[in-house]
Amino acid sequence: MGLAVALVPAVVACAAPEEDAADDATSAVTARDAGPDAKGDADADAGPLPPFHGAAAVLDAATRASMTGVSYKSGCPVGLDQLRLLTLDHWGFDGEVHVGRIVAHEDQAAPLLRAFEAIFVARYPIARMQLVDAYGGNDDMSMAADNTSSFNCRPKTGQSTGFSEHSYGRAIDINPVRNPYVTSGGTVSPPTGARYAKRSLKEPGMIQPNDAVVRAFVSIGWKWGGAWSGARDYQHFSLSGL
Ligand SMILES: [Zn+2]
Repeated sequence: MGLAVALVPAVVACAAPEEDAADDATSAVTARDAGPDAKGDADADAGPLPPFHGAAAVLDAATRASMTGVSYKSGCPVGLDQLRLLTLDHWGFDGEVHVGRIVAHEDQAAPLLRAFEAIFVARYPIARMQLVDAYGGNDDMSMAADNTSSFNCRPKTGQSTGFSEHSYGRAIDINPVRNPYVTSGGTVSPPTGARYAKRSLKEPGMIQPNDAVVRAFVSIGWKWGGAWSGARDYQHFSLSGL
């Protein structure tokens, strides 16, 4: 599955500081043409949009070491060589730009850079974006911290067998407290997200049908767990729709 290990170790996507700098950035993703009103969701009073920076790189030795035995174990369906470390600008709830990190499958690195650029242009706030290893690979702890994360080699939520799509780095959870997983019986994960099970709240950071986040992921062929029937996973997007 997936593509062969890329010969070029890193895809760097930064807004070029100079006009001619864009010419040698073959995989550049920039926000240069997108003003605050470009996609309809941004706050027109928020000032000029700063450039978006995003990059994807092979996993360095320190990251491999911190993942091994935590989010990554032997027997996982993809190897560390098939994963990429994405470094992404994102807005926080403090109105500032922060630099977050996720690990995702190499074949989704470039599409995810495009999706997170669109999310940045929309000024959509993301609480935090750290590797799940910062939480010992524990999804409950990561969710409780409202942490946005992708790769984690673990079983499907609520099941003891079968790999979650997160195990392939082809799924991501966004702002899990504000976008909890809600079973058909009404159980909410994380528990601190209980008030956000009421989707009519429509507070910042809550993903809503056809909003900027949903459109960003739909544009790269990913599907939203908030549109599932039965249990709904409002934080979850995946390539497979599972
Ligand atoms: Zn998920």
